[in-house]
Amino acid sequence: MKSCITCGMPFEGNHANDIGLELPEGQVCKFDSVDGKLKSGEEIFEGGVNFFAQAATDGNRDLAIRLTRKNMQVLPYWKLHPFAGLEGPAATDEEFGAAMAKVLF
Ligand SMILES: [Zn+2]
Repeated sequence: MKSCITCGMPFEGNHANDIGLELPEGQVCKFDSVDGKLKSGEEIFEGGVNFFAQAATDGNRDLAIRLTRKNMQVLPYWKLHPFAGLEGPAATDEEFGAAMAKVLF
């Protein structure tokens, strides 16, 4: 299954045609790129926080931040291209699993 290298979103179902950018490392969704360029790590992080706050945490921004860290920390792209926002407390496996169960891609 193909997925976005910077946020992990699978390119299937409603998102099958949401590829916005092709990098040597892989494909990036349209939410993480603008005008054919990759957004900064901080911008993509902020997008993730807004996504989780709306889709999974009922507006709990602190939890959404930790979920975003958990999600992005495991992506190989961000291991190669770390940024400051990745450092800090991350959601537990239980919190992440509960959140992902609420997310409808
Ligand atoms: Zn993405």
